[in-house]
Amino acid sequence: MHLIKLKNKKEVARETTAFFFEKPKRFKFTPGQFIEIHLNKNLVHSFSIASSPKEKELIITTRMRPSAFKNSLNKLKIGSQVKIDGPFGQFALHKNRKIPAVFLAGGIGIAPFRSIIKELPNRKITLFYSNRKKKDAPFLEELKKLEGKNFKLIPVMTREDEKRINPKLIKEKVKDWQKAIYYAVGSTGFIQSMANMLSKMKIRPEQIKTENFSGY
Ligand SMILES: Cc1cc2nc3c(=O)[nH]c(=O)nc-3n(C[C@H](O)[C@H](O)[C@H](O)COP(=O)(O)OP(=O)(O)OC[C@H]3O[C@@H](n4cnc5c(N)ncnc54)[C@H](O)[C@@H]3O)c2cc1C
Repeated sequence: MHLIKLKNKKEVARETTAFFFEKPKRFKFTPGQFIEIHLNKNLVHSFSIASSPKEKELIITTRMRPSAFKNSLNKLKIGSQVKIDGPFGQFALHKNRKIPAVFLAGGIGIAPFRSIIKELPNRKITLFYSNRKKKDAPFLEELKKLEGKNFKLIPVMTREDEKRINPKLIKEKVKDWQKAIYYAVGSTGFIQSMANMLSKMKIRPEQIKTENFSGY
């Protein structure tokens, strides 16, 4: 358990806040992992670390709905201390550089992907990033700037483009889609829908990794 200070907070999309915490000394994590924030013994929630290990602070990001936990989180004054535990989890990029990665992010599910992408790993990554509207999509502009030889971003705005992440789009955008490892992060409904889609595409279960933001 670590006691750390809240350094800053910033709105990163509509009703979506990023919280910047001081990083504990000697805190090591792999991009993709999560921490638990303990506001008190009853208010404990898990959050993927959205910052990369190279960044100075630990960033978490969340949709600000009026739950008991989020009301308390939002009331924290800059400089106040919170308890965190972790890092936890096995959600990390595969080792084999020859196999491309396909990231499927549902809204706030972008958090662990931002951490991984900011590390600029030397391999092909295509991120399909689904939100209702552009203004709901945290880190969208920043991600656009990171696009390059290895990283491709496909934003999908379900209420603006009237489209969804679907097999046709994936096959169009990912050359080796049959060989890729697929990573899906978001609400239980999003994960379920991505799992159904991948199963229809005959992607084997060993090629699919998920992080379920249960509670959405
Ligand atoms: C590994 C992991 C990583 C995660 N990373 C993130 C992240 O990066 N960002 C993020 O925003 N979230 C993340 N989550 C989810 C996060 O931990 C919270 O569960 C989520 O943000 C919802 O919290 P809440 O305070 O809004 O809802 P809560 O108040 O905790 O409610 C959770 C669920 O219970 C229901 N509920 C609440 N009260 C009642 C009641 N009285 N009766 C019936 N149902 C009720 C709510 O409708 C909701 O569906 C992660 C979860 C996991 C497991």
